[in-house]
Amino acid sequence: MSRYFVSKYAALTPYTPGEQPRGRQYVKLNTNESPFPPSEGVIRAVEAEGHRLNLYSDPECFVLRGRLAARYGVEPDMVMLTNGSDDILNFAFMAFSDEQSPLFFPDITYGFYPVFASLNHIPYTEIPLTDDFSIDPADYAGVNGTVVIANPNAPTGKLLPLDVIEAIVRSNPDHVVIVDEAYIDFGGQSAVSLVPRYDNLLVTQTFSKSRSMAGARLGFCIGQASLIADLNTLRYSTNPYNVNLMTAAAGVAALEDDDYYMGNCRVIMDNRAWTTSALEALGFTVLPSKANFVFAKSDRIGGEELYLRLKEKGVLVRHFKLDRIKEYNRITIGTRAQMECLVDTVKEILKEAAV
Ligand code: PMP
Repeated sequence: MSRYFVSKYAALTPYTPGEQPRGRQYVKLNTNESPFPPSEGVIRAVEAEGHRLNLYSDPECFVLRGRLAARYGVEPDMVMLTNGSDDILNFAFMAFSDEQSPLFFPDITYGFYPVFASLNHIPYTEIPLTDDFSIDPADYAGVNGTVVIANPNAPTGKLLPLDVIEAIVRSNPDHVVIVDEAYIDFGGQSAVSLVPRYDNLLVTQTFSKSRSMAGARLGFCIGQASLIADLNTLRYSTNPYNVNLMTAAAGVAALEDDDYYMGNCRVIMDNRAWTTSALEALGFTVLPSKANFVFAKSDRIGGEELYLRLKEKGVLVRHFKLDRIKEYNRITIGTRAQMECLVDTVKEILKEAAV
């Protein structure tokens, strides 16, 4: 730390992104990316926009916002687009929580929540998941603060049904409930349908996972126009051009190719079922996932050791050192060939461990 770094950030522990390895070629199952390339239409759109990079992007994202609104059955003023959905989470925490409306989220969830809370000096409470890693909705009823819930949750993959989300939203009428649906397209039911009825509900989603655009950075949120206006006040006070020209065009093209992407999600769901059974047959506990990853622990080898042995053999998964989950690994669901490679490599490791 330099001697110029201001003291209000001195205690900040930044988020640690998953490894993006250089050099060696891994079967990369550590950052929940899609194994499928963007559609041809998206690639063409990016190339075409490349010729116009001398111009600023449209800060209102007019075309994309209209298409997204139509896709999700809401009005354009109920949508805001950002540079990945992380951006929205930061804006939403800034806009809707402070000492009078502190944050509540699970103890095991997306690691960026405590970071954004600390960055913005917002007090927060981590509510423990139950013993089977579920969110108990009763813990969030009338908490008198801003609630953020990833649904499905990460890294567990567990999904709350829509009526449970609705009950949490209804029980906190004076505070915003943020539902982070980064993984909703892999078998969940979105809370977007509730938005017209609740002015305190904000739903965030991303093009990073189900639409193969992690590298383009495109996230969006849907809420009533008043919430979106507040978020835009912060966005226009930070960086109105947060969605670049190529990404906005890629987003429009991706929505035109929605069938391709939703088909890919079905393949991921099939591969998830296959991987779950294959790991269970090897003695693993695999949490029931509705995301593009599974969270699994072996009855024969420790979490960190398995992570390291897999890495040695060229398969990268994500291990978290947090005490409650240190025996688990989060494994992104890729193509069937990638998952077969994972399972074969696990078998090899278990055989070596048994010797
Ligand atoms: N929410 C959750 C639960 C996530 O796992 C991620 C991805 N790391 C994000 C939000 C942010 O994704 P992005 O910024 O790529 O939209």
